Amino acid sequence: MRDRAPSNVATTLDPADWTETRAQGHRMLDDMFDYLEHVRARPVWKPMPDDVRARFRESVPRAPSSLAGVHGEFLDHVVPYALGNVHPAFMGWVHGGGSAVGMLAEMLAAGLNANLGGRDHAPVEVERQITEWMREIFEFPSSASGLFVTGTSMANLIAVLVARAHALGGDVRRNGVAQSGVPLRAYTSTAAHGCIAQAMDLSGLGTDALRCVATDARHRMSLAALADAVAGDRREGLTPFLVVATAGTVDAGAIDDLAAIQTFCAREGLWLHVDGAFGALAKLSPELGPRLAGIERADSIAFDFHKWGQVPYDAGFILVRDGARHLDTFASPAAYLRRETRGMAAGSQWPCDLGPDLSRGFRALKTWFTFKTYGTDALGDMIARTCSLARYLEERVRAEPALEVVMPAQLNIVCFRHRGGDDRFNAALVADLQESGIAAPSTTTIDGRLAIRAAIVNHRTEERDIDALVHAIVELAAAKAITD
Ligand SMILES: *Cc1c(COP(=O)(O)O)cnc(C)c1O
Repeated sequence: MRDRAPSNVATTLDPADWTETRAQGHRMLDDMFDYLEHVRARPVWKPMPDDVRARFRESVPRAPSSLAGVHGEFLDHVVPYALGNVHPAFMGWVHGGGSAVGMLAEMLAAGLNANLGGRDHAPVEVERQITEWMREIFEFPSSASGLFVTGTSMANLIAVLVARAHALGGDVRRNGVAQSGVPLRAYTSTAAHGCIAQAMDLSGLGTDALRCVATDARHRMSLAALADAVAGDRREGLTPFLVVATAGTVDAGAIDDLAAIQTFCAREGLWLHVDGAFGALAKLSPELGPRLAGIERADSIAFDFHKWGQVPYDAGFILVRDGARHLDTFASPAAYLRRETRGMAAGSQWPCDLGPDLSRGFRALKTWFTFKTYGTDALGDMIARTCSLARYLEERVRAEPALEVVMPAQLNIVCFRHRGGDDRFNAALVADLQESGIAAPSTTTIDGRLAIRAAIVNHRTEERDIDALVHAIVELAAAKAITD
């Protein structure tokens, strides 16, 4: 290895030539605008060739490369093989579409490089502004607390921890769950997301302490089954403490009867947490909002701005009705009570008092830009439009003799099957479709059978994308029937 000349030792990472970096930066920005403007012209997804994959197995780059060169690699080897959730025909899982506004805000946030753990600066006020807006939207009191987190998985974990501290008292933080000796039990439905069980695991309560109660035919939690499970556990000497209802289940888009569950929880003295990962933002639509009735009386709500809210990843949020309980769960009294009242270290309470993260990025900025730039009326209309597209898809499926509806559109999700084959045939059909790049639904299991699942989350999706999906499925199945 050559000895480094002293003149090569950089004193800073800033560019030696800002003019050149500026020009390169503008090219990079233009490339991303082109990417978004012409997203429809590209396939939704392309499998990654082995030689491209191999490029990501290089050893540590000790020597520098030009910014333009690295950007070229990004354009050639990353961009073409992204998952495609910005594409209008992406209908897999529940992925948000992002926006140019969110992208620009993310760039500004990175430039500012703010750390939102705490202290006294405007970025923390932006996050507090979002909390205030969420209080307003979900009709929560001014004492409610809010916090940005990675996603709803983390938000649900925080909710379980707050409910746990509420049930066991603050001592649990010192003594641990085992010491308490209280056999806590939580309840959710069989249609709940897997991260609820994971939250029970991570909180030390264990997944066995979670009861998954039955649902009705439309995947809504059965109140009778919930009441039975709680009563049964009480008879056994166990201690029910938490019900996790879902606003928008992943398979069916079902919304639990939040008002009835809340009434039950209030009577039984149980914490009601709502997993509203994507569904909670339906509150922005005058048409859909009433279906979330009761959410305004929940003890806590977890949701994502990065799904229906179209904010770029990641941007999850937890809202807790009683901010004092939230603080009691995470704040370290030693640190919290000794805060300065002036200077940069003032401005308590800090976001780090409400969750496990100390250093935190500026997720609030891309959310603030999205809400202010579009306005919540337009976001609500966009959300309602994805639901009407799901109804359109359901109609299209019903009109095709080869297809059958397995789960009708309750919100923005439709599950269906091709009648021409078994589970394996339908799974292969979905893989063919994904590889075709035409449209990308995913699969799920409904009543023991595999179903093709299309979730319309992306604000770019139009009727022609639904038409392309249905057309491609029918054509690919016909081709399969011939070749098989
Ligand atoms: C997506 C989703 C989650 C998980 O949220 P992440 O943001 O992916 O962590 C939890 N519950 C439901 C109902 C979801 O749709």
